[in-house]
Amino acid sequence: MMIVDRDQSLNQQHKLVKQCNLVDAQSQADLHHSHPITTIHSSINSNNKILEQRIVELEKANKQLQAENIDLRRAEEEVLFLQRMTQAIGEATDFQSALEIALRKVCDFTGWIFGEAWIPNPKTRILEYSPAGYSVSPELEQFRTLSQQFTFSLGDGIPGRVWQSKHPEWIQDVSDASPVVCQRYQLVKEVGFKAGVGIPIINRNEVLAILVFFMFEAYEEDQRLVEIISTVAIQLGSLIQHKQAEEALRSSVATNRALINALPDLLLRINKEGYFVNFKAAKNESLIIPDSNFVGKHLCEVLSSDIALPAMACVEKALATGETQVFESQAYVDNLLRYYEFRIVVSAENEVMAIVRDVTETKLFLELLQQQERQLKAILNNIPGSAWLKDSESRYIAVNEPLLKLFNKKLEDVVGKTDYDLFPPDLAQKCINDDREVLSTGQRKYFEEFSTNPDGSEVWFETIKTPIYNENNEIIGTTGIAYDITERKRIERDTFNALKKERELSELKSRFVTMTSHEFRTPLATILSSAELLEHYSHKWSDEKKLSHIHKIQSAVNHMTSLLNDVLLIGKAEAGKLEFNPQPLELIQFCSSLVEELQISTAKHQIIFQAQEQKLSACLDEKLLRHILTNLLSNAIKYSPQGGVIHFDLIFQKDEVIFVIQDEGIGIPKSEQNQLFNSFHRASNVGIISGTGLGLAIVKKSVELHGGKIVVDSEVNVGTTFTVTLPLHN
Ligand code: ATP
Ligand code: MG
Repeated sequence: MMIVDRDQSLNQQHKLVKQCNLVDAQSQADLHHSHPITTIHSSINSNNKILEQRIVELEKANKQLQAENIDLRRAEEEVLFLQRMTQAIGEATDFQSALEIALRKVCDFTGWIFGEAWIPNPKTRILEYSPAGYSVSPELEQFRTLSQQFTFSLGDGIPGRVWQSKHPEWIQDVSDASPVVCQRYQLVKEVGFKAGVGIPIINRNEVLAILVFFMFEAYEEDQRLVEIISTVAIQLGSLIQHKQAEEALRSSVATNRALINALPDLLLRINKEGYFVNFKAAKNESLIIPDSNFVGKHLCEVLSSDIALPAMACVEKALATGETQVFESQAYVDNLLRYYEFRIVVSAENEVMAIVRDVTETKLFLELLQQQERQLKAILNNIPGSAWLKDSESRYIAVNEPLLKLFNKKLEDVVGKTDYDLFPPDLAQKCINDDREVLSTGQRKYFEEFSTNPDGSEVWFETIKTPIYNENNEIIGTTGIAYDITERKRIERDTFNALKKERELSELKSRFVTMTSHEFRTPLATILSSAELLEHYSHKWSDEKKLSHIHKIQSAVNHMTSLLNDVLLIGKAEAGKLEFNPQPLELIQFCSSLVEELQISTAKHQIIFQAQEQKLSACLDEKLLRHILTNLLSNAIKYSPQGGVIHFDLIFQKDEVIFVIQDEGIGIPKSEQNQLFNSFHRASNVGIISGTGLGLAIVKKSVELHGGKIVVDSEVNVGTTFTVTLPLHN
């Protein structure tokens, strides 16, 4: 644009010169043809004035023209310089040589005597001296060598400031520099440099280099020069970008080539008609090794039809869909069956790349793995319980059929899931805690646990969890087996109960032996002595005395009989053979006559019987009720040796009848109260009061047969209260 404008101005000035010349010729013609003399004189005078005026104008125009001519020439030179520079930079093979050219040409063109370049190091964030440079005289080479030792940081010296500001900087005289000077300042001064300029090379707002020029004279800033060098810098910037892109492309092409060469596969370029375009032989000898004859031949000519046909189909499909096609084939090589994988990838328009790989090893390995998996599955499924494998995150990796059956799940519902997906949160947390323990300790964990079925029945499991190790002996998961041991548990419990019963029976027997040896001995001794006395002295004795001994014998026999009855009764009760026959019973009448019977046997005690009702009929077993009340009332009498009042209260409630028997006797120590209902148990405070310890056991059995309950409340030396509650069944 600038050049065109100047051309126009030049043309206008030429026109102006021509017009002036015409005016000159005209005035001279006028001079030759004018009349008379005076007229001629005055006319000459006026013409001279015009001429002088025109000459002045002409000279002025000529000067302007000359000045503009200089400008024009300079502009032309600049344009030429930039054109040559562009060409030279464009021909440079790399950035460094482009810099070299630029520095030299700028110096040549502008008259600067020294040019250098500083390159930012992105890692260290400092400017380093570029090997590219230019100097007019060889003496300046030493300055260059010394300058190589320097670096500039951001804002430091001309290069550092230009780096920071991203704008050119002109210094008229560096020796006049401000006191804040850079390290290289002394060197610059010694060399004698005066004017200096720094210009940044910027690409995409990033400073790629800074060009610095010096000269020996001080020089005012020449904006035009700065513009020219800046234009060069812009060209260098775009060249760098271009070169970098080219470099990246070259390196990616080289990388691709290196990658392709490193591939163990056979690579075949095939066109859409199925002809081989090119190939890269495989590194694996078991793959076919194509020779140069290969190129230009059709798939079907080179490969057997069982490979060529599917290959051709895949080529067509890959080109039609743009998607990679894969197929496998097999062939005998040296009498060994080998497997090949063909991958057909679209590589260009109407062309595919077939990547052929020998996958025999992988295939065999896979088969081995599958076989091992089948074996593992068989083992797992053969385990007569649930079995599983979990990873270190407690996710199920494998489970057996029994486990799936037990939880009524499908394999896909379990594999990859955790216990939280299968069980209630509490149970899941427990399972995962167990896993974590095994994972952290490396110890096998064994435990029994139970869960409850929906029908309320218990299911017992015996679980064993073991860590799984990898080849580096690191724990990578757990394996677990859980057996249903409900049946075993039941048998164990039954056996335990049977043993307990057995033990109880044997204890009962031994207590019976102890009791009989003691309790039978006294009445037997009485019988024996009375019988012997009667044998030897009956003829001397009065009838009364004889009768007294006969009564003693009878009473001892009765006592023994009642003792034996009690033993038989408790035996029957223990064996579960005691019968329960509830019949309507006039309860108040029954109790009153019982109290009367017992009252006769004691004078020291007073039995007070009280009932809310006058008459009441209840459906109870009379025999059993007699055992209950007789025993409790006779105990109340027996264990109140000082005598006293015995209260017997009968209380009716809606569905039950309550018998309360309360005495003021010796009481029962607290710690022994709950054992009194066991056969042969007697409290430690009975002293010489005789008894077998069977009464309360019979009472308890009789109460239980009625479906009732008995409680005792007693305090030593204060008294005892037994409360029997029987349900009314009618
Ligand atoms: P028997 O078989 O002849 O009844 P026993 O009276 O000793 O003998 P239980 O009636 O079973 O046996 O009573 C067991 C024990 O309970 C008694 O030995 C006695 O220690 C204690 N006992 C029962 N009733 C009373 C009571 N009213 N006051 C104090 N102790 C009592
Ligand atoms: Mg008793």
